[in-house]
Amino acid sequence: PSLEYEQLRRRIRDGVQEMWYYVNSELKNIKKNNYDFTPEQRDKDIQDSLKNVWEHKKSLISDIDRLALVDGYQDWREKEAKDLSDLVQRRFRYLQNPSDCDRAQKLVCSLNKGCGFGCQVHHAAYCFLVAYGTERTLILKSRGWRYHKDGWEAVFKPVSDTCLSPTGGSHANWPGDATKQVVSLPIVDNVYPKPVYQPPGVPADIAPRLEKLHGHPIVWWVGQVLKYLLRPQENLERVLEYSKEKMGFKSPIVGIHVRRTDKVGTEAAYHDIDEYMLKVNEYFDQHDIKLEDRRVFLASDDPKVIVTAKERYPTYQIIGDPEIAKTASVSRRYSDSSLQGIIVDIHLLSLCDYLVCTFSSQVCRVAYEIMQSSHPDAYNRFASLDDIYYYGGQNPHPHIARLDHTPRKSSELELKINDPIEVFGNHWNGYSKGRNVRINTVGLYPSFKVRNPIEVVDFPKYPEVPI
Ligand code: GDP
Repeated sequence: PSLEYEQLRRRIRDGVQEMWYYVNSELKNIKKNNYDFTPEQRDKDIQDSLKNVWEHKKSLISDIDRLALVDGYQDWREKEAKDLSDLVQRRFRYLQNPSDCDRAQKLVCSLNKGCGFGCQVHHAAYCFLVAYGTERTLILKSRGWRYHKDGWEAVFKPVSDTCLSPTGGSHANWPGDATKQVVSLPIVDNVYPKPVYQPPGVPADIAPRLEKLHGHPIVWWVGQVLKYLLRPQENLERVLEYSKEKMGFKSPIVGIHVRRTDKVGTEAAYHDIDEYMLKVNEYFDQHDIKLEDRRVFLASDDPKVIVTAKERYPTYQIIGDPEIAKTASVSRRYSDSSLQGIIVDIHLLSLCDYLVCTFSSQVCRVAYEIMQSSHPDAYNRFASLDDIYYYGGQNPHPHIARLDHTPRKSSELELKINDPIEVFGNHWNGYSKGRNVRINTVGLYPSFKVRNPIEVVDFPKYPEVPI
C-alpha cells in the first residue's frame, strides 16, 4: 500500500474514536447542564455540537472516498465494471437476435399496463429478465401504447434486430413448458407461479463478481437491462443531446425529482422543496462545491415546483423546464409530447452526480438504475426522502441481522445475528423499521445492524457467448 493509504486508514480509525469521545462527552454535558442554562444557550450549544459532528463526519467520508482512489484498485474497478457490462450486453444481444426467428423460443409481453412511464419501463424490464431466465427471445407488443400509438419503436430501438414476430407453432400462457414455442407472460401483479428470475434475484454465474464490484447488485443488474432496452432511436438521441445543451447541463450537478399531483396523499406523502434542498446542500458541502457552482437539475410533474425553487433559491443555478412539467400533469400525461418530456427528465436525472428524490416514485428509481451504467459503483449517489430502493412486485427477500440488538425502548426490535428481517423502511435517522421473521415481531432497530444480502438465482449461463 502507499504511504497515503496507510495514513488515511489510521486517520479514519482515530477519527471514529475521536467522534465517540466527543459525542459521549457532549451528551453528558447536555444532561448535566439541563437545568442550569437558558433555553437559548442550550439551543446554541446543540447547534454548535451538530456543526462539529457534521464537520467530522464530512472529513471521515472524504477520507474514505479518498481511500478508494489510492488503494490501488481503482483501475480494476473501472475495468471490471466495463467487462461485466460488456459480457451481459453481449448475452442480451445474443438472446434477442436468434438466427431463425420462425423456430426461436419466445416470451411475449404486452406493453399495455395501465400505469405511468416508469412503471411500464419496469414492466418491460421484468419481462426481459424472465425472457433471459427462460432463454426465450422477448417479443414486446406495443402498438397502441398509451404513451405513443406507434409503440416502443417510436422512441427506442426495437428489442431485436432479427425477431419481432410473436407467432409460432405452439403457444401457452405462463409458465408453459419447453415444448411450447411461444409463452405469454402477464403483468407481475397477476403472474402465477411467480418467476424466480425477477428482482431481487441476480444470476449465480456473475453474482460473485457483481457482489465484489457493486454496493447494490440488483440495481446494477436492472440498470444493465435498461441500458439494453432504452437504446434511443436517432431522433430521440438528438433530442436528448439538444436538451442537455439548451439547459446548460454539466457537472457538478445534483438531480432533484419532485413527484406531486396524483401521487401525493395516495401513494406518497407531500415533501416541501426545502426538504430536498437540505439534502442537495449536504452533498455540495460534503464535496466542497463553491456556492456559485451549485447546479441543480429539477424535474417534476408539477411546474409550480420549478418556479418556486427558482424563486426561493436564487443563488443556485436551478435548471429544469416548467413546460416539460406541464405535459406531465395527469390530464396531459399520455401523449407524444409528455413521452418525450419524461424520457428527457429521466435521462438528465440519471446523468446527475447525485439524486435527491422519493424512491416511492418509479421515475426516480428508473433514473437511479440507469445511473449505475455511468459509474463503476453508484449505489450511494442518492438521498431518498421516503422508501428504500425496491423493485415493484419483487420476490420476498429478507435482510439479515449482522449484530445482536437488545431493545432499549418498547418500540425497538430484538435482533440476534442471522435473524431474517423483512424491512419496511429506513427512517433515515439511524433506525429502520421491520419485522423479525424469527420471532414474528415488528419494531425499530439500528439500520447498521442489518445487511442486505445478494439474492443469487440459477439463471442460464449462455455458454455460447464468450466470457
Ligand atoms: P410513479 O407514479 O411516480 O411511481 O411513476 P410512473 O412513471 O409510474 O408514473 C408517473 C408519471 O407521471 C410518469 O411516467 C410521467 O408521465 C409523469 N411524471 C412524474 N414525474 C415527472 C417528471 O419529473 N417529469 C415528467 N416529464 N413527467 C413526470
